Amino acid sequence: MISLETNRALRDENTLHLPARALRFLRADQLDQAREAIELAREQRWPLLVLGGGSNLVLTRDFPGLCLQIALAGISHRPLDGEWVEVSAAAGESWHGFVEHCLMQGWYGLENLALIPGTVGASPIQNIGAYGVEIKDFFHELEAIDRTTGKLRRFTRAQCGFGYRDSVFKRDGRDRYVITQVTFRLRRKPRLNLAYGALAQALSHLESPGPRDLFNAVVALRRAKLPDPAQLPNVGSFFKNPVVSEGQFSQLKTQYPELVAFPDPKGVKLAAGWLIEKAGWKGVCDGGVAVHEAQALVLVNRGGARGEDVLRLAGRIQADIQARFGVGLEIEPRVY
Ligand code: FAD
Ligand code: NAP
Repeated sequence: MISLETNRALRDENTLHLPARALRFLRADQLDQAREAIELAREQRWPLLVLGGGSNLVLTRDFPGLCLQIALAGISHRPLDGEWVEVSAAAGESWHGFVEHCLMQGWYGLENLALIPGTVGASPIQNIGAYGVEIKDFFHELEAIDRTTGKLRRFTRAQCGFGYRDSVFKRDGRDRYVITQVTFRLRRKPRLNLAYGALAQALSHLESPGPRDLFNAVVALRRAKLPDPAQLPNVGSFFKNPVVSEGQFSQLKTQYPELVAFPDPKGVKLAAGWLIEKAGWKGVCDGGVAVHEAQALVLVNRGGARGEDVLRLAGRIQADIQARFGVGLEIEPRVY
């Protein structure tokens, strides 16, 4: 039998530290509790907000339904052959803790994704990625509760429809599934991905770097550049890097020879942080929300900001980037 908290503050449950309350709240550390809560919300027709670590959402108002925080724990593994091991983690496991656990067990591949905040269960939602690796590269399958039937359903990699910071769970499956477990296929022999210049450079002093060196380098690079949400509340990159056509890229490159851009299967990916910095937004503060000094793609709450303040500054940046460069910026975190 579950017992719901009422009028629960969510300020400490979201890394932007925005003030909002949930009319009802449950932290589920057992699968049965999660199922019961989902069933109750369905019966009562309460809106349901599924929460992990709150590191990729913007709360703009009190939530009138049930906020279900997924705290399911546990990691298990199954060796497949000499090359691969299958590792399953419950949705409430900390993502970074999981990456480090895998490294210590000698299960490799996720090192580039170290220090990303949040939970394992949220990792497929936007196919989390950093330094040239995305979870889709090592994802095998996941289990989720279908909110419309209450039944557990399995998703293969193809069924997840992973894309750049995207998946079916942000499109057709949005608000339909509660992910309970994710399974990865990891390497038993390390193969480092050093495609990102900053990483290769950080490891260039080592003759043959290993996965622990790679993990440490990612952690150090991120600590040097990104604000720690515990000190300076934020949700990481606020906008996705926009992908533009070759034609638009050529025009922009003529006008701005120093433009930072990378090839992309759908055109050319522009570094949104570069556009925002070039437009002079770095350090700008409005209503307690500021564009971070060390990385213009990150908006930080300097204290007392509300969700509407975050969206106002984001809107001003979007309008300016559209006017200056003709490029639309899409907000990455989910806005509630
Ligand atoms: P939440 O913020 O709690 O939820 C995000 C969304 O997922 C919500 O819509 C929620 O309803 C849904 N959700 C959460 N759990 C479940 C579940 N079990 N089932 C169904 N839906 C669920 N992201 C990257 O991709 N790469 C990065 O390098 C990166 N760096 C970051 C750095 C910082 C400093 C910060 C603050 C954020 C960063 N992020 C990055 C964004 C964020 O950490 C990830 O998106 C992360 O996966 C969010 O996890 P969470 O548990 O906090 O999700
Ligand atoms: P960075 O190294 O300064 O690079 C700036 C941008 O250039 C990044 O957004 C990255 O795109 C792109 N880039 C750099 N090298 C590339 C290459 N070799 N090939 C393709 N694209 C390249 O970025 P950063 O801010 O320090 O972040 C480092 C990594 O962590 C990035 O991968 C970034 O996505 C990730 N990160 C994500 C979030 C988030 O909330 N989503 C927050 C912090 C950091 P990509 O973003 O597509 O990789």
